[in-house]
Amino acid sequence: CGREDDELQVQLKEHFGHNQFKSKLQEQAIRAIIKRKEDVFVSMPTGSGKSLCFQLPAVLHKDKVALVFSPLLALMKDQIDHLSRLRIVANSINSKMSGTERKAVIQDLRSMRPDTRLLYITPEQASTENFQFLLQELHKQNKVSYIIVDEAHCVSQWGHDFRPDYLKLGRLRQSYPDIPWIALTATASKHVAKDIMKQLSLRQPVQTFKTPCFRRNLFYDVVFQDNLKDPFGHLSDFIKDTLNLGNTDLKPSERDSGIIYCRTREMTDSVAKSLSAKGIPAAAYHAGLNDRDRVQVQEDWMKGIFPVISATVSFGMGVDKGSVRLVAHWGVPQSIAGYYQESGRAGRDGKMSRCRIYYSKQERNAVDFLLRKDISHAKTESKKDKAKAGYQSFERVVNYCQEAKCRHSVFAEYFGDDPPACKSLKVCDVCQDKNSVEKMIEEFISNLGS
Ligand code: ADP
Ligand code: MG
Ligand code: ZN
Repeated sequence: CGREDDELQVQLKEHFGHNQFKSKLQEQAIRAIIKRKEDVFVSMPTGSGKSLCFQLPAVLHKDKVALVFSPLLALMKDQIDHLSRLRIVANSINSKMSGTERKAVIQDLRSMRPDTRLLYITPEQASTENFQFLLQELHKQNKVSYIIVDEAHCVSQWGHDFRPDYLKLGRLRQSYPDIPWIALTATASKHVAKDIMKQLSLRQPVQTFKTPCFRRNLFYDVVFQDNLKDPFGHLSDFIKDTLNLGNTDLKPSERDSGIIYCRTREMTDSVAKSLSAKGIPAAAYHAGLNDRDRVQVQEDWMKGIFPVISATVSFGMGVDKGSVRLVAHWGVPQSIAGYYQESGRAGRDGKMSRCRIYYSKQERNAVDFLLRKDISHAKTESKKDKAKAGYQSFERVVNYCQEAKCRHSVFAEYFGDDPPACKSLKVCDVCQDKNSVEKMIEEFISNLGS
C-alpha cells in the first residue's frame, strides 16, 4: 500500500500543487471517496480544506464529471476560478448564463469524452426539466463520478442557513441510487448531521469524517458569581493571572489578550469600566456603537493596543487572532453550540488558554424569562417550535453549569464525538478536582432560596 500512498501524493502535487494533505482526516476522506463505494459525510471546520476532498477524486476519474451543488453563485465562482488556475476544467450551469455559454457547457458534457471534471449547479436548477434530462443522459452513459452537496447544512431547518431548494436534492438521491453522494459542511452538531443524512436520503452506512470537537489546550471551568464577595475583583485577578500583561518582548499584536462576553450593551460598558479601574486596559464592543467606532475598537484590540475587549456575542465572526489566552462569559451563554464557538476563539495558536463562565442566578433568570417570553409570544406553530428549541438549548447550558460533569464531555456528547481524554489531561475543573466543584454547586444551590 506504500506505492498507492505515493501515487495519491503525486496526484495531489501534480494537480493541486500541495506537498501534503492538510490533515489526516482530509487524506482519509479522499481515500474513501475515491473508492466510490459508499456515501460520504464530511464535517470539518471552515478553512480545513473540504473542497479538496471532492475535487481531487473528481480529477482522478478522468472519463467522468462530478456534479457539485453549492448555494451561492459567488462560492461557485471562487471554486471555478481556483480550479481554472490549476488547469482543471470546471463549469457551471446557472440562471445568470447566456444561452450560448450554456450550450457550450452542455455540448462538452454530451461529447464522448467530456473535458469537464466538475460541474457546479445551484439547487434550484436541480428541479428544472432541462437538468433532469441532462442528468438522465449522463447517467445512462455512466459519466457521473459523484453528486456532491457542499454547504450541506443548508438542507436542514436546524442549521443556520436553511435553503428550501436544497430539499429537492433528496429526490435525486432516490432516482440515481448507484451514484455515490458526498455531503460536506462545517456544522458539527450531531442533530444537524443526522438531519442532513435524512433529508438527502444518503445511503446507509454513510462513511463519516468529522473533526473531533475536543480542544486539549483549552481549560474550561465555571465560577458562581453568587458565591463571591467581589465578582469584578475575581474577574480582574483571573485576567491578571492568565494574561502575561507585562511581556513587552512580543509584537503588540502577538501579546496575550482576552475577550469578556456579556449579554447586554450596558454590561459590556460596566465590565470595561471596572477592569480599566483595576488597571487592565479594556474597551467595550457592541452593536450600539456606530460602524466607525466598532471597527476601530476591533482593530485596536487586534493590534494589541489594549488587551481586553468586553463584547456582546456580535463580536468575533471572522476574528482570527492566535494569542487569545482567555475567553470569559460574564453571565450565561444561550446555547452549548454558541458557547463552544465563542469560547473556541481562545488558543487558536495551540497554546494553553482558559475559558470560564461567571454564572449567576440573576443572569440565568433573566435569560430564562426572555426565552419563555419568546415561546408565549410566538405567533405560528413553527415559530413556537423554534422558541421551544431555543429554550431547550439554554437548559443544556444551565445543566452544564450546575452539574459536576466533565465540561469537554458535554461538548463531545453534543457534537456526537467519542468521550475526550480530559480525565487524563485534566483540562477542566471537574476532571481536575470534582469535589470542590460539587461543593461550589452545593453552595450556589443553598444560596438560591435566600
Ligand atoms: P473549507 O471548504 O473546508 O472551508 P477550503 O476547501 O476552501 O476549506 O480550503 C481552505 C484553504 O486550504 C484553501 O486555500 C485551500 O487551497 C487550502 N488547502 C486545502 N487542502 C490543502 C492542502 N492539502 N495543503 C495546503 N493547502 C490546502
Ligand atoms: Mg467549503
Ligand atoms: Zn474534563
